Parts: sequence; structure tokens; C-alpha cells
Amino acid sequence: MSEDKKEIRSCFMCRRTEEQAGKLIQLPGGITLCQDCMQKSFDAMDNPQVRNMLNLQNFSNMQNFPDMGMFRMDQSAAGGPGEKQDSRTDRKKEEKKPKAMFDIASLPAPHKIKAALDDYVIGQEYAKKVISVAVYNHYKRVRTNTNSLDEIEIEKSNMLMIGPTGSGKTYLVRTLSRLLDVPLAIADATALTEAGYIGDDVESVLSKLLSAADNDVDRAQTGIVFIDEIDKLAKKQNTNQRDVSGESVQQGLLKLLEGAQIEVPVGATSKNAMVPMTTLDTKNILFICGGAFPGLEDIIKERLTRSSLMGFGSTLKDQYDDDPDILTRVKTEDLRKFGMIPEFVGRLPMIFALRKLDKQMLVRILKEPRNAILKQYQKLLELDEVKLDFDDGALEAIAEQALERDTGARALRSIIEEFMLDIMYEIPKDDNIGQVLITRAYIEHTGGPVITMRGAQTPLLGDRTQDSHQQ
Ligand code: ADP
Repeated sequence: MSEDKKEIRSCFMCRRTEEQAGKLIQLPGGITLCQDCMQKSFDAMDNPQVRNMLNLQNFSNMQNFPDMGMFRMDQSAAGGPGEKQDSRTDRKKEEKKPKAMFDIASLPAPHKIKAALDDYVIGQEYAKKVISVAVYNHYKRVRTNTNSLDEIEIEKSNMLMIGPTGSGKTYLVRTLSRLLDVPLAIADATALTEAGYIGDDVESVLSKLLSAADNDVDRAQTGIVFIDEIDKLAKKQNTNQRDVSGESVQQGLLKLLEGAQIEVPVGATSKNAMVPMTTLDTKNILFICGGAFPGLEDIIKERLTRSSLMGFGSTLKDQYDDDPDILTRVKTEDLRKFGMIPEFVGRLPMIFALRKLDKQMLVRILKEPRNAILKQYQKLLELDEVKLDFDDGALEAIAEQALERDTGARALRSIIEEFMLDIMYEIPKDDNIGQVLITRAYIEHTGGPVITMRGAQTPLLGDRTQDSHQQ
């Protein structure tokens, strides 16, 4: 490192000179790195997915990298040997397995898939039926691999799910992927932009899928990608600017939806020189798009009224105003009018709508699913040997409050968490409490819960019950 040596030093990775990249760091073996590349290397090594990948594949970009302690490919960043990492991933895989109900290699008939969904997803009968059939067909297609020219090619059953916020779109897909034990990537369409602009490019959804599959390319290739908020990609009306986050993203997604070989960075969502790449074939990946499509109802109504205004069967203009299921009558022409490009809609052959949740459905969601929120709280208190109950009035009051918030079932949890905080805090204080009954009065802050002591016949009334309490 003598000053008199006047050679121009440059970064081993990015080739920038010291003048361009700032002070270079000298590493053993005569290697120099700039601060940026050094940081990137640490970030990449810190990422367990990359480390995992390095154990399995060639790190093509770094093949001529000399073996240096900190970059040793077979060791995790924590310094543990590669084997340790492997066994941890294996254990992770093993832990996940028992949850799966089906095997995509021998998928049961659609009615069985729907019956399994019924345990978790309340209502939305039509959506569950469509999705069960579509998934069944999709994996049948994957299994038989009917892509050669002499066979009839079965089209991909990509789906478009339309439904208000909190109606269970994401939940349905999540449940499905868990039952089938296939990897799932959930992406938000609003974060996507045309390649080259700030934001994630469309291929980033595949990187997510790959990491959901623990970098197992085969598993990722039969996984599910859910792209939420797809309605935000609608063509902007009356604009002269380039639409880098709307129509162009729809264009960008076309090849993914159809099936293409895509180069995907491993362990990162963007490509750069430090990240290893692999190729994913999207032919067998099931794409499900979801969105609330605000304003679509009016487009459907307008079409229905227009067609019914003609001829003998003409109907009144406001006939569809109160129809809660108007979205189920959606047609591709409505979506085109909304701003989705025809080629995009054309690649989503299964289009269906989820219903807006009403009070009765919200009450059922509170108590019926296998992992219902109430059951979770009951289980928690059961561990303290306290029995937790909700009377019908309480359930209805929670559902009413959720309806007011207009965010579907999503509001339920936050409402329950608000009032359960006190219960979860106070009850364990007193070992003598045997049972707690939540009432409408408690939810509405006009009374307290009904508390029964162990061995007691008559319940005590909680704190807020002094002023008013109706049992
Ligand atoms: P979105 O339609 O906006 O994607 P989500 O799927 O995220 O809505 O729903 C939010 C939460 O509401 C889910 O995590 C789930 O717990 C609950 N939920 C929504 N719909 C249902 C349903 N039909 N059955 C059971 N739970 C539901």
C-alpha cells in the first residue's frame, strides 16, 4: 500500500476507480472493493435465501471470486457450516407438511376442495365453487402436461376475482395454497411499474414466489401468484403522459400470465450484478388477480339497462340499484370499459365476483371458521381455565360496528381486539374467575361482561355494569 505506486486501483466488482467510487477497501488476495459493493455483498450473504441457493447452485456472477473467509460460499453469515443451514431448511419443510390436506399430484374432485375451503371461508359459495373447479383443472393440466402439438391444449385457468375490500379475496387464495401445499406469492399491483422505472418490475412477483418456495424452482413453477389491487392498473382516462404504472404493467404481465421463461433474481426482487439468477417457466404457475373495481357496478348497471330498454322486455332504469349481487353479472366488456386492456382480460378466463359481507355473514365469520377469532380468544383463556362466551347480542353488535367501518371482515379483528384487551388484562388477575360472558352492553360501552366465579351459581357483573346492565 505504498503511496509511490501510482497504479490506478479499481473495484473488483463494479470496476469503478477509486476516484469514481470513493475509498476502496483492500481485502486479502490483492482484491479491492468499493464501499457499495462491499455492502451489497454483506446484504446478499445476510439473506438466508441467497445462502441457501449458494449451497445448491453455481454463483455464476462470482465464480472467479477467490475464497476468502467472509465470502466462503458454504458457510452461513452467522459462521455456521453449510450443513447446518440445510438441516434447518429441511426441518422448516417438514414442519409445513402436515398442514397440507391435498397433494397436487392426486388432487381430489372439486367438491372435496370446496368442502375443505368451507371449513375456513364463510359464504362466497359461488366463488369457492369456481375456484375449486379452476384449481382442479389447472393442476390436472399440469400433471398431464398437455402441451405437445398433437394434443388438445388445455388453457391455463388464470382467474380474476372481483370483490369489495375485506370480502375474503386474499384469504381465499391463502387458504387454498395452504390446503394444496403450493407456494404462494402475494403482490400488490400498485407497487409494480414498467421495467426501468422506480418501483418493482413485473418479474419481481416471480422472485417472491421463488422465495416462498424456498428457492425450489420446481415447486415455484407450480405455485400460485396472487396480484391484489389489479383494478389500479386500469388505463388512465384523458391523459397524455406515459402510463408507467397502469396500462404498461398490464402489458408487462401478459407474457407472465400466458407462460414464458423468465430470468429471476434469487433472494432479491431486483436484478443486479451481485444477485444470482435462475430461470422460471410460468406455464404452470396459476395467476389469480383480485381487485375491488370501484365504479364497476355502474358500468354493469348501465349495460344492463341499455340492453333492457330495448324491446318488450324493457325494465325500469333503477331496477338494478338495490341488487347486492350486481358484480356477479360482470362481463369482459365491462372490464374493458373500466380500463383493463382486452389482451389482459383475455388471459384471465375465469372471472367471478365475491359478495359484499352482510351482518349475518360477519357474525358467522366471527364464530364458524376453524380458526375463528372468537375460538382463538376462547382457547387463550381456556389455558387459564376460564370459559369465554359471547351472547348473540354481542356478536351482532360487533358485526354492526364492523359494517359501519365498511372494510368488510377486516374490521372484526380490530373491534374485538379493542375490547378484549381489558378482558385479557383483568381476568388473569383473579384466579377465582371461572367464566366470562361478553354482552351487547359491554361492546356498546353501556355495561360490563358477566363474570361467574368458580363454583358460584350466580354471576357477578363486571365493572361497567353498575350503571346499566341487561342480561
Ligand atoms: P380482501 O378481499 O380485501 O383481500 P381479506 O381476504 O384480506 O380481504 O380479508 C380480511 C380478513 O377477513 C381475512 O384475513 C379473514 O380473516 C377475514 N375474512 C374475510 N372474508 C372471510 C370469509 N368469507 N370467511 C372467513 N373469514 C373471512
